[in-house]
Amino acid sequence: MAVRTVERAARQMRSDRKEGTPVTINERKALFDGIAPCRTQEEMRLHTTFRIGGPAELFVTPESEAALCRAVEACRAADLPYQIVGNGSNLLVSDEGIEGAVIAVGEGLDGVEPVPGGLRAGAGVRLSSLCRAAQARGLSGLEFAFGIPGTLGGGLFMNAGAYGGELAQVVRRVRVLTREGELRTREAAQCAFGYRHSAFMDNGDVILAAELALTPDDPAAIEARMQTYLQRRKEKQPLEYPSAGSVFRRPAGHYAGALIERSGLKGARVGGAQVSEKHAGFIINCGGATAGDVRALIEQIQRKVRQDSGVELECEVRFIGRDAVPPTDKGR
Ligand SMILES: Cc1cc2nc3c(=O)[nH]c(=O)nc-3n(C[C@H](O)[C@H](O)[C@H](O)COP(=O)(O)OP(=O)(O)OC[C@H]3O[C@@H](n4cnc5c(N)ncnc54)[C@H](O)[C@@H]3O)c2cc1C
Repeated sequence: MAVRTVERAARQMRSDRKEGTPVTINERKALFDGIAPCRTQEEMRLHTTFRIGGPAELFVTPESEAALCRAVEACRAADLPYQIVGNGSNLLVSDEGIEGAVIAVGEGLDGVEPVPGGLRAGAGVRLSSLCRAAQARGLSGLEFAFGIPGTLGGGLFMNAGAYGGELAQVVRRVRVLTREGELRTREAAQCAFGYRHSAFMDNGDVILAAELALTPDDPAAIEARMQTYLQRRKEKQPLEYPSAGSVFRRPAGHYAGALIERSGLKGARVGGAQVSEKHAGFIINCGGATAGDVRALIEQIQRKVRQDSGVELECEVRFIGRDAVPPTDKGR
């Protein structure tokens, strides 16, 4: 179905329904007929590395770039709220779930191909697969990302980084679907990359693909660096538990984990959520944690660290779903 046909169908659906009658879930689901597979009431805990999150009203899995664009346009034309997700590795999803459509960018948008001086890859490719593809071609620059459990799209949105590297260092340009429904290429300089920040956090772009500039190097040397970083992760991070990685942004001049430890909060627990004993910057799901548990623990940490060190910890994890606003307990 072409975008215009989708818009017509959505307009028709709006005009067909009686004033004040809510659009049924099946009517909403039908928006994606012929565009992408769509499931209803899909538990988001199945799609987040925290293993937390209530049901998404609609869970849409486009299998190509064109299908992703059409799915987004269908939502916009029908005024249906939508949320793009990648691998759900930086998300805390409400226990009450998510209204409207969750559009998951993954398989089908995970192609990787060589371009002069680098690679071009779809937004749905996992960062670790992308690192592997680069290593196999003797291309260096992505080693730091080996072991970050996100997609390229989520990584660009977050400007993911580790061990002195970040995606901004290798991005040449990003292909997006703009809020206005146009396909555009954004040069790296237009992406406002900063520490765990990008223009995509503000401009509503859906990331479709990106071109990365990489440097030729010996595949064995690249592999060795990837393994070193992976080993460091295994040693320092509680990878045996579900989590969303570092919960807080790094405060200027400090490390969040060290401040939390200094406040005696290592091992602190609310319900099934616990400050990791292995890395105090991580909150882990010890089993059955709710988003409410994690929020309460985050607020406890923010309060205690503020009291003890005078530092305001800001969340790196993103809060999505019904009533999802980042915790702020200033003044309490
Ligand atoms: C064990 C562990 C270790 C981690 N280590 C690191 C680390 O070293 N460094 C680091 O930076 N992060 C780390 N993270 C956090 C996380 O993996 C990264 O932030 C990652 O980039 C998120 O990618 P994702 O695909 O999972 O995105 P999601 O969590 O699904 O989404 C994150 C945000 O990106 C947006 N988004 C996703 N895809 C798109 C798209 N195609 N277009 C537009 N917006 C999009 C979403 O709307 C959301 O706001 C870690 C997480 C875990 C669980």
